[in-house]
Amino acid sequence: MKVIRLREGRERSLQRQHPWVFEGAIARGGADAGETVRVEAADGRFLGWGAYSPSSSIRVRIWSFDEAERIAPPLFRRRIAAALALRGRLAIDSDAQRLVHGEADGLPGLVVDRYADTLVAQFGAAGVERWKGAIADALLEATGCSRLYERSDAAVRGLEGLPPATGWLRGDGDTGIEIVESGWRLTLDVAEGHKTGYYLDQRDNRAALARWVRRFGLRRVLNCYSYTGGFSVAALAGGAAEVTSVDSSGPALAHVQRHVRLNGLDEAASHVVEADVPRWLRAQREAGQRWDCIVLDPPKFAPTAAHAQRAARAYKDINLLALQLLAPGGLLLTFSCSGGVDASLFHKIVAGAGADAGVDGAIIQRLEAAPDHPTTLRFPEGDYLKGLAILRA
Ligand code: SAH
Repeated sequence: MKVIRLREGRERSLQRQHPWVFEGAIARGGADAGETVRVEAADGRFLGWGAYSPSSSIRVRIWSFDEAERIAPPLFRRRIAAALALRGRLAIDSDAQRLVHGEADGLPGLVVDRYADTLVAQFGAAGVERWKGAIADALLEATGCSRLYERSDAAVRGLEGLPPATGWLRGDGDTGIEIVESGWRLTLDVAEGHKTGYYLDQRDNRAALARWVRRFGLRRVLNCYSYTGGFSVAALAGGAAEVTSVDSSGPALAHVQRHVRLNGLDEAASHVVEADVPRWLRAQREAGQRWDCIVLDPPKFAPTAAHAQRAARAYKDINLLALQLLAPGGLLLTFSCSGGVDASLFHKIVAGAGADAGVDGAIIQRLEAAPDHPTTLRFPEGDYLKGLAILRA
């Protein structure tokens, strides 16, 4: 058994059961990628069992703080059962759900999404990579699903020294899947789509948009960074007269009209634009356009706090444009999924955009990821998606 001995005084975060050991906290010890190690304080006290990752600055991710625990398939089965039990209690109105959300579910680096009867998993750290087979079997057994597609192609794999890996791990067949979210039929492709195929974290915010469009009688809706048009379907279902979806990805946009049709909504009311959002918004401002509702759901501008400054400028730019394009009484839904920009900084950025635009508005709701993407008390780093619903004065 390999031992990782920490430097003097570096045991505190583990004593609070935070699951990460950074490279700089380690005095000595090492192991192979994904190998189970015993992490000890400088005085030799047991702190936790973890998975070693030789090339990551997060050198160890803790599996368990219980010295009696054995790191083996029964532990993974228990963690998966607990994750499923939480989702069961949440009574989510969709057959597409995040079943395992990494550290928050006690399985560091593992993301598992369920799309109808298909599972899609991302093995994002050396520990879960090492136990991939056992975890895949445990997932199928616990869910009753018959197939699992691997989407281990996120950039984080590189930080762990792991090459990208994609394809069927269990079962096979068509990678195109239909799901039902909040009563809406949506399609995705687990091989070709972004992330694992769809942005499940926005589920509740899409449902909220439909309610707001109806309540406020919003007619012209602009969905920026639309991906496959989830918010667009929600807006039309809520009674919008016209929705424009803007994204730079042609393949993503190809789904939008299909989704409108699948849900029996008016295809003529849905417009699709392939463009760079900031550039396109600027042109709309020149043209004197106005919308009653604008959704801004950009990609991650700041993966870490180090990128926050440049990201802040980019967020301010698009929010300024959106506020200028929003009709009085209109609704802006604006998001950031950057871990490096927290909710309070994001609020300040949007406030700055409002000041520059000479526009005020009431924040009617603060938005976040749906609860099947939990942030736990012990792992605040899991919090990434934040948003504001602002009703313009
Ligand atoms: N709101 C969507 C998810 C958006 S993800 C949903 O609910 O499903 C972010 C999207 O931004 C991706 O589809 C990506 O293709 C798009 N994107 C990234 N950079 C862009 C740019 N500069 N202009 C337009 N779209 C962009």
